[in-house]
Amino acid sequence: KAKREQRGGFQFYTSELNTQSKAHFDLTQELRKAVERDELVLHFQPKVNARRRDIVGAEALVRWRSPSRGLVSPGVFVHLLDEMGLGVWLGEWVLDRACAQMRQWQDSGLRSIPVSVNMSPSQFERASVLEVVRASLDRYRLDARCLEIEILEATAVNDSDKAMRTLLALRAEGVRVALDDFGTGYSSLVYLTRIPADVLKLDQAFIRRLSSDARQQEIVRHIIALAKTLSYTVVAEGVEEEAQLSVLVAMGCDLVQGYLIGSPVPPDAFAERWLR
Ligand code: C2E
Ligand code: MG
Ligand code: MG
Ligand code: MG
Repeated sequence: KAKREQRGGFQFYTSELNTQSKAHFDLTQELRKAVERDELVLHFQPKVNARRRDIVGAEALVRWRSPSRGLVSPGVFVHLLDEMGLGVWLGEWVLDRACAQMRQWQDSGLRSIPVSVNMSPSQFERASVLEVVRASLDRYRLDARCLEIEILEATAVNDSDKAMRTLLALRAEGVRVALDDFGTGYSSLVYLTRIPADVLKLDQAFIRRLSSDARQQEIVRHIIALAKTLSYTVVAEGVEEEAQLSVLVAMGCDLVQGYLIGSPVPPDAFAERWLR
């Protein structure tokens, strides 16, 4: 009897696994078609001055506009594209589209603001980020100061020498570098003094409990003070409530991004709201 139960358990396990790998397989196949059919799009989210709330930049965030699944978030598919060997392609595509968008806004006489683009650690390892950035800027005749690259701590930690050199070279050309999701890595404070970056983006996990948790407030206060001592521009991500914003302003946080100010939206809606 025990044996039968065991086998039953095993069968359950394998069928669960099969369902999972089938879903993974289906998603991969669909994603491959999505790339061919040009179903990826960029949305833009405003970054504003914390005190005045005027626009200082935008973050480009990729989405998959799937005919069957609707708007799919990057958390679902960016790592799959990486697995499929399309990570480098994605990085180049996003850069190209973001630069094309800036050129179009500038040509329409709209306010010109810098756009930041996210780059995964694998994109940094495998491609020549520097060449790709230069090529995109040249293609659309853009100043390097238009562009900001958002990296994760892992980018600098994984393959530090190559990544460090690339980051230094990017900054030497005028491209800004932002350290994204700061505070979620394991060696944050050590790398804070070593990673060549201009901007530090406080992860939304810090912001979530900001208005209710006094100890959390003290941590954020000190991170902001430390970052500013080290000459970083500090951005708070995921600001959803007025109470969070006032605490951040009082702490000297430079910029904020979040649903309170504006969600990521398609380029036309973004331009209509922020660039007129
Ligand atoms: P991230 O770069 O930290 O982007 C911030 C995420 O927080 C975005 O999720 C944004 O939509 C969301 N967000 C913004 N404001 C708020 C808020 O007030 N509250 C909450 N709860 N969330 C907010 P999204 O667009 O789903 O992107 C998730 C992650 O996917 C990004 O995190 C980034 O790491 C990655 N990603 C996005 N676009 C790209 C891309 O083009 N290339 C690569 N390699 N990764 C990307
Ligand atoms: Mg980001
Ligand atoms: Mg982030
Ligand atoms: Mg993130």
